[in-house]
Amino acid sequence: MNSSYNTIVVGLGAMGSATLYQLAKRGIKTLGIDLLSPPHTSGSTHGDTRITRQAIGEGDHYTPLSLRSYEIFRELESKTNSKLLEVTGGLIISSESKTASINHVPGFFENTLAAAQKYGIRHEILGAREMRSRFPQFNVDDDEIGYYEFEAGFLRPEEAVHWQLSLAQELGATIHAHETVKYFEETATGVTVHTDKGTYKAEHLVLSVGPWLPQVISELGSVFKVYRQVLYWFDVSASFSDFAPGKFPIFIWQVKGSENGIYGFPAVNGASGGFKIATEDYTSTVTPESVERNVSTEETVAMFESKVAPFFPRANAKCIKSAVCLYTVTADSAFVIDWLPSSKRIVLCSPCSGHGFKHSAAIGECIAQLTSTGETSIDITAFRIDRLLHKSQT
Ligand SMILES: Cc1cc2nc3c(=O)[nH]c(=O)nc-3n(C[C@H](O)[C@H](O)[C@H](O)COP(=O)(O)OP(=O)(O)OC[C@H]3O[C@@H](n4cnc5c(N)ncnc54)[C@H](O)[C@@H]3O)c2cc1C
Repeated sequence: MNSSYNTIVVGLGAMGSATLYQLAKRGIKTLGIDLLSPPHTSGSTHGDTRITRQAIGEGDHYTPLSLRSYEIFRELESKTNSKLLEVTGGLIISSESKTASINHVPGFFENTLAAAQKYGIRHEILGAREMRSRFPQFNVDDDEIGYYEFEAGFLRPEEAVHWQLSLAQELGATIHAHETVKYFEETATGVTVHTDKGTYKAEHLVLSVGPWLPQVISELGSVFKVYRQVLYWFDVSASFSDFAPGKFPIFIWQVKGSENGIYGFPAVNGASGGFKIATEDYTSTVTPESVERNVSTEETVAMFESKVAPFFPRANAKCIKSAVCLYTVTADSAFVIDWLPSSKRIVLCSPCSGHGFKHSAAIGECIAQLTSTGETSIDITAFRIDRLLHKSQT
């Protein structure tokens, strides 16, 4: 037996690093274990940027998590003298068209507007003519409308993970990188975690293993599906000023004639770095081990022709770089943040479905509260796992 802790966090990506930091901040004796050395490029938390927004179209119950995360990311920036959150403004484009893509949930655009109104989030509704005059980079149709949110922007996921782990260590947390959790057991007095290097005891265990979840908890494998996603950076060097931060907002576009929309970012890596754009793909499930990590020329050409050129005529077909990343998706595209069924010691934390990062800082705080006091300051009951277990039985 190597050692005892109050809480062990397994998986130190977006969710685990936020949780470890919040636990350490509370003076709780904590061990974080990861099979790699985060931040890394094998899971769900890489690719330079993540969209953040405050009026949440996936449901207005997410907005308190987003608002609290803005505060924590700003706190982290001031503690570490880093830049984690950049406000660029955010444009969500939709239309009445029956063929417009959906974003995670039906009614995303309407829900966004309702959340903005409910929480007093500064926004504007733009018609096609206004979008064309303010954002001529976007080739919008006459029947398209825009929701513009002033405080939306992007986060730097790798830096956020790095700094939260670094602060957690400064505050006394222990981190074991390159160590794999093989299995764990709950007893009357605590939890025992077995890895490839040792055995540890704790009062609580947090499982934030992202796309490895179906392997780590095989009995929940049918609840979480893992999908390959590709991020592309296309050349905009000839028209960089159009795509530069300050000129170009983050965007989500429910494009017509396609099941899945597009989203993207300003060219944050300078004139030669390209602008990042992606769609979503739910065609076949993968595992972190089996997934194809290379992006083929055919994929890149198809992406440019179908999802870039028609919408951003000033972008160039040259692909500067691409990356493969993994979504861990539930049937309702919502999160799971809950005790493992019939446990009061093991918390399962799976907030992905493609939209979790913006909430990660507050989710870490909620988990630290849940494991230390049994309660959370933000209501997370919508993320209970039983909704999915009941659904999969019917
Ligand atoms: C392409 C893409 C685009 C996205 N865009 C956005 C966006 O714009 N806005 C937004 O808010 N969200 C977005 N998301 C979602 C967001 O990035 C995820 O919600 C978030 O990164 C999930 O983090 P995680 O901690 O759950 O997983 P990960 O960061 O993958 O962390 C899991 C960790 O567990 C470790 N691990 C696994 N198994 C074991 C084991 N047995 N023992 C020890 N360690 C283990 C892994 O090494 C890994 O470090 C996007 C996701 C993707 C993939």
